Amino acid sequence: MENFKLTVLGTRGSVPVEGKNFSIYGGATSCYKVQIGNEEIYLDAGSGIVSALPKPNSRITILLTHMHLDHLVGLPFFIALTQKDRPIDIYAAERVGLMPKEAIDRLISNPFWPCKIEDYPAKVSFHLLPKKFFIGEVEVETLEGSHPKGSTIYRLSYKGKSVVHATDFEHNPEACEALANFAKDCDLLLYDAQYTAAEYERYKGYGHSTPEEGIKIADKAAAKKLIFVHHAPLRTDKELAEMENTFGLGDKISFAKAGDEFFL
Ligand SMILES: [Zn+2]
Ligand SMILES: [Zn+2]
Repeated sequence: MENFKLTVLGTRGSVPVEGKNFSIYGGATSCYKVQIGNEEIYLDAGSGIVSALPKPNSRITILLTHMHLDHLVGLPFFIALTQKDRPIDIYAAERVGLMPKEAIDRLISNPFWPCKIEDYPAKVSFHLLPKKFFIGEVEVETLEGSHPKGSTIYRLSYKGKSVVHATDFEHNPEACEALANFAKDCDLLLYDAQYTAAEYERYKGYGHSTPEEGIKIADKAAAKKLIFVHHAPLRTDKELAEMENTFGLGDKISFAKAGDEFFL
């Protein structure tokens, strides 16, 4: 059986940050790499994808949750795009009436960027996200989350092990119920905990959640491990460590740090 490995390449929400206050949990935005055998599946293409070094013989797939900049800003700098004829498959849902490539074309084109995605040496294919499909032997299931203009939640399963990626998710009774069912018995649940409960009162409707809500959903889903992601941009290492002291539970509940590796 091949290893099922998830690496945190970037876990910051909203915008990349830099400096000594962010060196432990990391300042790069949303990107997680799932590796199973020759499959390299990237969950989002935030600035974290810039530090990814894909293996020469791996098959690259990028699963985008939505088109907000923090989930996409690394894409023009992804090293695999510069590799001649390298196949890269990008999946995303239609958002605000735009097909995946139409949305990407708005960002990767003049005046924001000097070329278009088809000008890169790699062979990029865009796919409208099916509800359920396979990448090799990896099963991919999707659920529409709760976020302004939408965000896709992914469940990746391989030989009885699974990871659920629920970023840019705001709790409400209906969405929490749906997510708990979708994440049932998963091995790893990545959950948006951008806000503290007090902050959330000021930012209702912004599309993010809290550790307290994540714990409730993880309990209901009987998720084996819960990892909080999408850290607020100005949340320092010290503050994140304090939150981890409050909510963390050994290796069962933690706050994602750039470079973390999880083996399922
Ligand atoms: Zn985001
Ligand atoms: Zn978003």
